[in-house]
Amino acid sequence: MTFDTSVIELSRSALKNNYRFFRRLTGKRTRISCVVKANAYGHGIPTFVPLAEECGANHFSVFSASEAVKVLQSARQDSDVMIMGAIRNEELPWAIENGVSFYVFELDRLNAATKHARRMDTKARIHLELETGMNRIGFQEPELTKAIEMVKENLDHLSIDGVCTHYAGAESCNNYLRVTRQIERFNHLCKRLGEENVPYKSRHSACSAAVFNYPPAIMDMVRIGISMYGFFPTQETKTNYMISVGKTGPSKKVNPLKRVMRWRSRVMAVKEVEEGEFIGYGTTCLATRRRKVASVPVGYYHGFARNLSNLGYALIHGHRAKVAGLVNMNMMLVDVTEIREGVKKDDEVVLIGRQKHGHISVSSFSDMTRNPTWEVLTRLPAEIPRLIVD
Ligand SMILES: *Cc1c(COP(=O)(O)O)cnc(C)c1O
Repeated sequence: MTFDTSVIELSRSALKNNYRFFRRLTGKRTRISCVVKANAYGHGIPTFVPLAEECGANHFSVFSASEAVKVLQSARQDSDVMIMGAIRNEELPWAIENGVSFYVFELDRLNAATKHARRMDTKARIHLELETGMNRIGFQEPELTKAIEMVKENLDHLSIDGVCTHYAGAESCNNYLRVTRQIERFNHLCKRLGEENVPYKSRHSACSAAVFNYPPAIMDMVRIGISMYGFFPTQETKTNYMISVGKTGPSKKVNPLKRVMRWRSRVMAVKEVEEGEFIGYGTTCLATRRRKVASVPVGYYHGFARNLSNLGYALIHGHRAKVAGLVNMNMMLVDVTEIREGVKKDDEVVLIGRQKHGHISVSSFSDMTRNPTWEVLTRLPAEIPRLIVD
């Protein structure tokens, strides 16, 4: 029994399907890292990580040390955890001791990692992040030359697990030139590291969109976030993948990804509203004729964006029921006037996912609010229970 007002289900078969798809697409020799930052894109680290391991995953990427702590608590002993961003120098001994690898993109962290590893008489597992054109984090000259020197002097205490970079928008063809240049620059820098005898073990650069749009970016490991959860990064990436133009004209593939998440709640109560009355707070929703509304105990506190007021939908009996009035902190009303089956208390309400013949994708919600899929997912609070279903 759960006391919560909504539940997020994670589908084992969907995740298996997605993992297998990327396995085939990237080839046997490329390692797949599941990106589980931001509480596994709202799917919940403690539930998602073991499920992903069941599907074959053994490498997880996070943004920060605090997220790495959560993954370590949920993952098998033999899975690898990689921090792609924030870790403070005083947290480095913890990472080194637990075999957690981390990005290094500035000399101070490199220095501290070497110092701690030497004191602990072991090796720190690091990934050298290179600046190739995103201009966010990553070594660039003259620090890069200095970093190479420092690494070579301290090989007894550093394991260069990877050399990596990140693309500045692989999901949109607007960035084609920039991303193509980044790939060239990255290959060039990797070659230079090789020539300077920096013994790195792998090269990795691709996120979901790069895997689809820039096959040469696939390399030794890929870091897949959004698409492992069953979403294309953008509609453009989806179209680009699904419609390939060959000699015989365009051919359409089936969508290879399956949505892992389904978010459901229940109707709290149903009521009739007379013609001419306003529904909910204020005057944003006028009943132009007699209406029937159902209250649903999900609001913006639970991650259902307030800008879906009078705009979003939920599914009841497989039919779309439009949000009536403003989304409140803890609840909202949906219009069920047209649902012929009749809606009653405790009927299932689906906010994301399938119900009978109907479905609501995160992208349909994010198209309406212009919040990208990533943002909609990561706003789902950790407190909502996550359940695994088949
Ligand atoms: C978030 C992230 C990814 C994964 O991106 P998706 O678009 O969700 O696949 C990969 N690499 C880095 C450095 C990231 O921050």
